[in-house]
Amino acid sequence: MSKVVTLPGDGIGPEITAAAVAVLREVAPDLTLEEHAIGGGAYDQYGDPLPPRTRDALKDADAVLLGTVGGAHDSPWNSLPRALRPESGLLALRKELGCYANLRPVRVQPGLEHLSPLKPDLARGVDILIVRELLGGIYFDGDRQIEGGAAYNTMRYTTPEVERVAKVAFWAAEQRKGRVTSVDKANVLEVSELWRRDVQALRDRSYRTVHLNHEYVDSVAMLIVANPSRYDVIVTENLFGDILSDLAAVIPGSLGLMPSASLGDGAGLFEPIHGSAPDIAGKGIANPAAAIQSAGMLLRHGLKRPDAANQIDRAVALALRAHPTRDLGGQADTATFTRAVLSALETSP
Ligand code: ATP
Ligand code: MG
Repeated sequence: MSKVVTLPGDGIGPEITAAAVAVLREVAPDLTLEEHAIGGGAYDQYGDPLPPRTRDALKDADAVLLGTVGGAHDSPWNSLPRALRPESGLLALRKELGCYANLRPVRVQPGLEHLSPLKPDLARGVDILIVRELLGGIYFDGDRQIEGGAAYNTMRYTTPEVERVAKVAFWAAEQRKGRVTSVDKANVLEVSELWRRDVQALRDRSYRTVHLNHEYVDSVAMLIVANPSRYDVIVTENLFGDILSDLAAVIPGSLGLMPSASLGDGAGLFEPIHGSAPDIAGKGIANPAAAIQSAGMLLRHGLKRPDAANQIDRAVALALRAHPTRDLGGQADTATFTRAVLSALETSP
């Protein structure tokens, strides 16, 4: 039996997490769900944005479902010492879980092409999964300095670091269209040469059914908006992935439609990419789609239950078409949308 820790957090976090939990209960009634505190609310209650009892609960968790963390710009939380601010709880959580792969699906839902900044013909059918290496590369290597008029950072990867994130991409591709594009700058960077060689070797050794190609990051930056349908799974290192995933996040046209997963060797972390939206918190109008889709990713990538995840994806697509929320130009509030997902689940095969 699997244990899922839920961390609703601040702002709209509790509203959208409640929706995701209702959906999880419907498709995976055997899961043990345990709710704990994180962020500003946790500071108010326990004086710590990641309190010991939350840390304890993480130790035997199989997956973590996170809502959102943080307050409005004028929140008193922002004048606390840095270590006590809500966002520190999030950083501590990420560190605790040690996730090395960040997954962001970029999908244009059928019927919602008009929200995309791309022309409808280009937006239609876009379904990309970006897998970004999260713990290595230029952001993390110790070899860095600024002195006088000179400064440097170092982009460094080892074969095991490349292989573990590439495995995530290949596994995901096997569940999808079976295509991986590995993104690098191998015409200029030695570190990219290693990246390319190791990704290719792993494919040739263990994932022969997956089609792998290699592209340069500058070319991908152009093609991901000029012709996004050419991509299935994209795998890349930390810095390139940081930039490409924010670029691609614009394509669906709404923050409320963007779930994410962070995977490591232990429990994975699943959360919407949007913030705590303090401007609409407590009004019952937040779009819970990204939180519900994050629960879907939890089932797919965290607990390896693709059937239950597919059920959620289908139900969310139906609900988005029939009952779009206000951020999508519709009328549905959080409760109406959630009921629509639940009833689509009941009637699905
Ligand atoms: P962060 O807290 O990560 O810095 P932010 O403050 O820039 O992010 P968000 O909190 O994501 O941004 O909110 C940006 C805008 O999008 C707000 O107007 C918010 O109301 C809206 N928004 C974000 N998420 C949702 C959602 N799930 N449903 C409806 N509106 C949303
Ligand atoms: Mg915010």
